[in-house]
Amino acid sequence: MSTSLQDDLRATEKQLTSPRISSKDAQLLWHQADDAELRARAAATRARHHAPGSATYMLMRIINYTNVCVAQCDYCAFYKLPSQEGGYVLTQAQVFAKLDELLALGGDLAAFNGGFNPHLPLSYYCELFSAIRARYGDKLEFYALTIAEFLYLADHARLTLAQAAQQLKAAGVRWITGGGSEILTEDFRKRHAKFKYTVAEYFDAQRAILEAGLRTTATMVIGFDETIDERLEHLERTRAFQDKVLAEIPGTRGLESFLCWTYKPYFTQIGGIEISTAEYLRHLALSRIYLDNIPRMRTSVLTQNERALEGLLYGADDFDLPIEDEVTQKAGATISLDFEKILNYARTLGFEPTYRSVAAASKL
Ligand code: SF4
Repeated sequence: MSTSLQDDLRATEKQLTSPRISSKDAQLLWHQADDAELRARAAATRARHHAPGSATYMLMRIINYTNVCVAQCDYCAFYKLPSQEGGYVLTQAQVFAKLDELLALGGDLAAFNGGFNPHLPLSYYCELFSAIRARYGDKLEFYALTIAEFLYLADHARLTLAQAAQQLKAAGVRWITGGGSEILTEDFRKRHAKFKYTVAEYFDAQRAILEAGLRTTATMVIGFDETIDERLEHLERTRAFQDKVLAEIPGTRGLESFLCWTYKPYFTQIGGIEISTAEYLRHLALSRIYLDNIPRMRTSVLTQNERALEGLLYGADDFDLPIEDEVTQKAGATISLDFEKILNYARTLGFEPTYRSVAAASKL
């Protein structure tokens, strides 16, 4: 590290003893701190939330209940327009078969993620989620939709966000999670996903979910054409939102975790090349340092495979072992079901992973 950087960082040394760094500090760290420096600082923030050497994981699947979508994000290799061949909607029986398979493999978390399908009424979702709760009770948990789909669904059903959240809650939903956020800047959204939502709408939806007593998470995807400033803006907005809801919504846990994964560029309209794992790990560390008010930091096995576990050295404390996600698989992600090999890699890095059951922890 250069002497001038050491001076600059000394000026921001407060971050090791205080819970907060500024965006300027983050810029400095990103551009000039070496990996060892970032790792050390991320580990210090991690230690405020988790014991060193501890790590948790979940065995889960993403259920892509429909690929029909009108949003037309240019980074997506998954969707079919309503007029195109190849569109599908899963039946309840097909969803149950996927859930049964997940349970048989030892997993207990499913995350629903599909498209903005104009042919699916609110009743499709409410009936599906009620049926899952009736059939499985607390044996498994599900993340019902992402914030993006929730926004579309509320609009399509001509409901306020609060009304939509209440209807889903009445159908047995406990979680609507932060997926579909990619990069939360207005400029990014206009460049790549102009029909999806605005940043303000995204956070309004997160807030409505929390106010309804539902639970949620934060996410981010990097590796498109976003600038470092845009990445930092995303982190800044996320941290500010968390501060606000924790202060203003009684009893909420706010954003319970932060998961960042990487863009897969194959078969998408915009293409591109994947960022390196090294860049991903540095971003993970920076996120851990910056988002001091979010307790759980997850690393993405889905997009980084086994090497995602190195994220545990860069501030992460949790990871998924996914068995399916058509959205990222269509764009080039590969999934290994050799769970023991992946868990062993965590052990070689000095972490003892223990299973985290969302189903056991999320009974209301
Ligand atoms: S990323 Fe989601 S919202 Fe965008 S086109 Fe693909 S399925 Fe639709």
